[in-house]
Amino acid sequence: MDRLGSAQRVLVIGHASPDGDAIGSVAGLVLILRKQGKKAVGCIADGVPWFYRSLLGEDLIRTPDQIEGAVFDTVVAVDSSDLARLGDAQALLRGGAPDIVLDHHRTNRGFGRLNYCDPDSPATALIVYEIAQALVPVDVELAQILLLGIATDTGFFKYGNSDHRVLEVATELVKRGASLQRIASAVLENKTPNGLKLLAKMLDTVTLAADGKLAYGWVSAAMLSETGCTQQEAEGFVGEVRALHGVEVALLFVESPPGEVHVSLRSKSHVDVSEIAVELGGGGHPRAAGCLLKVPGVREAVQEVVPIAIRALQ
Ligand code: 5GP
Ligand code: MN
Repeated sequence: MDRLGSAQRVLVIGHASPDGDAIGSVAGLVLILRKQGKKAVGCIADGVPWFYRSLLGEDLIRTPDQIEGAVFDTVVAVDSSDLARLGDAQALLRGGAPDIVLDHHRTNRGFGRLNYCDPDSPATALIVYEIAQALVPVDVELAQILLLGIATDTGFFKYGNSDHRVLEVATELVKRGASLQRIASAVLENKTPNGLKLLAKMLDTVTLAADGKLAYGWVSAAMLSETGCTQQEAEGFVGEVRALHGVEVALLFVESPPGEVHVSLRSKSHVDVSEIAVELGGGGHPRAAGCLLKVPGVREAVQEVVPIAIRALQ
C-alpha cells in the first residue's frame, strides 16, 4: 500500500485471455489511482473482449502496442500467478519484474518485487475493493467494475468461494449502483450463432473416463476455423463438461494457435486441479486451474493430461 502511495505514473497489467476478474481488477485499480490524481493506465495483451466493453470506460485498458514507449514509475500485475500469464504485455517490463503483484491464486510464484497474494480471496477484484475502501469513494462506475470481477470469479455466486463476505461486498456494490443484471447479460447472453455451433462440435467430443468421474472434451484449431470462431467463443465450455452427473474432474482442451493447447481444469469437490496444472507448468485454484502446452495438437495434449487426471482421482 505504501509503495502504491508513492507511485505517480502507474501501469496495471492483467493476464492474457482475460476473464472478468482480470478486467475488473485492472480497470478497478486504474480508476482508484486516477481518483487519487495519479496517471494510470491498464494493459491486457489481447485487449478487452467485445462483450465486456459495455461495462467499462474505453480509456481504462489498452493493448501493449498502444502504450509502447510510455514511461511509468510503477508497474502492477494483477490476477496473474506467473510472468508468462501476462503474454505480450511482458515486453512492457523490459526484462524486469513488476513492482507489485496483487493476486489470489494459491499457485502464485511471487514474481514481483512486492507480492500480495491472498488465496482465500475469491477474486482479485475483492482485494482491489479493499484497497478502494481504504483510499477513495466507491462510486457507481467503480462498483460496477469490481462487481464484474467478483461475480465472474464466483460463477455468479454459485461456487464454493461464494462465502458470506463475498455476498456482503456484492450487496454493498449493488447498493452503490452496480447492476448484476447488466453484468450477467453482457457475460452470459452475448453468445454468437457460430459459438453455439462450436459448442455442438465440442459436446460431440465429450469422453468419460475413470468410471465417469473424469470427463473431457476438446476444441481443435480445425473446429475453430470450420465454425469461424476464436478461442474466446469456447469460454465457459468447460462448465458444460463439469455439469455432468457424477463427474469430479472436467478438462477442456483448446488448440489456439495451432501448436499450442490451453487446458482448462475444473473439479467439483475434492481433487485439487491446481496441483495438476502446476505439474504441467500452469496454475490456478483448487477447483479451477489452467495450463498452456506446446504440443502438435489436441490429441497429444489429451494423451499427456488425461493419465495425470486419472491418477489424481485414484
Ligand atoms: P481458465 O481455465 O478459465 O482459463 O482458468 C482457470 C484458472 O486457472 C484461472 O484462475 C486462471 O487464472 C488460471 N489459469 C488458466 N490458464 C493458466 C495458465 O496457463 N497458467 C497459469 N499459471 N494459470 C492459468
Ligand atoms: Mn481471478
